[in-house]
Amino acid sequence: EPPQRLSKVLAAAGVASRRTSEELIFDGKVTVNGSLCTAPQTRVDPTRDVIYVNGNRVPKKLPPKVYFALNKPKGYICSSGEKETKSVISLFDEFMASWDKRNPGTPKPRLFTVGRLDVATTGLIIVTNDGDFAQKLSHPSSSLPKEYITTVAGDVHKRHLMTISEGTVVEGVHCVPDSVELMPKQHDIPRARLRIVVHEGRNHEVRELVKNAGLEVYSLKRVRIGGFRLPSDLG
Ligand code: URA
Repeated sequence: EPPQRLSKVLAAAGVASRRTSEELIFDGKVTVNGSLCTAPQTRVDPTRDVIYVNGNRVPKKLPPKVYFALNKPKGYICSSGEKETKSVISLFDEFMASWDKRNPGTPKPRLFTVGRLDVATTGLIIVTNDGDFAQKLSHPSSSLPKEYITTVAGDVHKRHLMTISEGTVVEGVHCVPDSVELMPKQHDIPRARLRIVVHEGRNHEVRELVKNAGLEVYSLKRVRIGGFRLPSDLG
């Protein structure tokens, strides 16, 4: 294997994110072959060099790449920082707790979500430890269509659909949805439902599009990312 950046090796070994790994290195928590190393760009060979972080040996063996398609429940956040709110990653606590038993001697994967859904949004989100895959999937140039179903308060008229389809400014960028469609009324669901496809994936984009048309979002669910669709029997 060709030598790689120390920070990248730590991230790949599941020690921390790339950025946190760089901080650990700057902070003098990392040794390579017995010497303190404070330069994240140092080239190392993870199969030959002996690396310690905070006194713990970084395993030579990499954690396997894992991929989950999760139907996110309401009330969970996709970042890990805040203490008050439950994180989507905590849904994998049992999976992680039993990891060593199921995979003896294999480092644990460090899970994160690909992109984010708002705390109140439900539906499809990818959870993985594959940073390259996550970056490819969420990079603006990949422009994967993401399909949402939103229920809104009140009646939806043609002018609402027109306004939504004209787009709105989100994070300083004018975002135009790929499509917006009023779904047929269902007897057991009194609220109007809209199917909206976007590809930018900016913060609160779908909520902003709907709000900008003067409608109130009652619920929001992502049902598709690219060719990946949430099974229709999942609420
Ligand atoms: N758009 C939103 O407004 N919220 C989400 O969670 C995802 C897309």
